[in-house]
Amino acid sequence: MSISGPHGLEVDIPFFEIDGSEDGPHLTVLAGVHGAEYSSIAAAKKFVREIDVTLVRGRITVVPIVNILGFWARTAFIVPADGKNLNRSFPGDSSGTFSEVLADRVFKKFIEDSDFLVDMHAGDIPESLTPFTVFEESIVEDKSLALAKAYGIKDIVRQKMSGMVVTGSTTAAAAAIGIPAVTVESGHNGILDPRAVEIHCLGITNLARSVGVLSGTPWPERPHQLYDGWDWLRSDREGWWSPLCETGAEVHAGQVVGTMSDLWGDVYAQVTAPNDGTILFQTSSPAVSAGGILVGLAIR
Ligand SMILES: [Zn+2]
Repeated sequence: MSISGPHGLEVDIPFFEIDGSEDGPHLTVLAGVHGAEYSSIAAAKKFVREIDVTLVRGRITVVPIVNILGFWARTAFIVPADGKNLNRSFPGDSSGTFSEVLADRVFKKFIEDSDFLVDMHAGDIPESLTPFTVFEESIVEDKSLALAKAYGIKDIVRQKMSGMVVTGSTTAAAAAIGIPAVTVESGHNGILDPRAVEIHCLGITNLARSVGVLSGTPWPERPHQLYDGWDWLRSDREGWWSPLCETGAEVHAGQVVGTMSDLWGDVYAQVTAPNDGTILFQTSSPAVSAGGILVGLAIR
């Protein structure tokens, strides 16, 4: 798909489309909305290239690198053309900046006509992460939760509409128009990690079987932990971040999870957990700007 953005910017986004010989649902899989999350990009590509097309019922669309400019530029989180986070830009704006135009085109071409949406992520360059999945509170949330369970990753976060920490994501925009959707995270720090790729490939294959777009028996439901929303801890000013907990650690309300210091080494803030929860991701880079994310705490 070719995108013409503002200022004459044109990009081509590769995608795969497999039509089955029999009718069935339409599953769309996106990856590389964050262009340096290589484990998810590699997994999307591996999944679609290794599909036995005789087993497809309906249609599977896979877009392995949505943010192709970020991929080539190796930038974390943002689209280099305008510095915006594409996963805060959905459903997009056809007369907006490049990211908003891209979101609009991706939404109309790939998301709007889907029956199910999966958006694969992998922990960007400054981001330590333990695998988890996220779905939004919506009119189709039961079906979104079923997708999350089928992916087989233990930790599942339900994002509430009130105090929603992430707006403008692919899955929130899809769920808002009644398409069951889940964001899946496996991988960390922009590393191409074969174990993270494997988790994604097993998960997406089982999910595809569970919705009937791929023949085969899905595995029995696995144990999972459902979290009631997020606390995203941020720094109110720029400084040096020193995390004190392992990623994946369970912490309690009031526990110090890290400190912020100035560049001379003087600690000026202790960062505490507002609720009991599990650290599903955290910033591993010491350099944090004003307003920057420190910890993603899923609330127990
Ligand atoms: Zn991401």
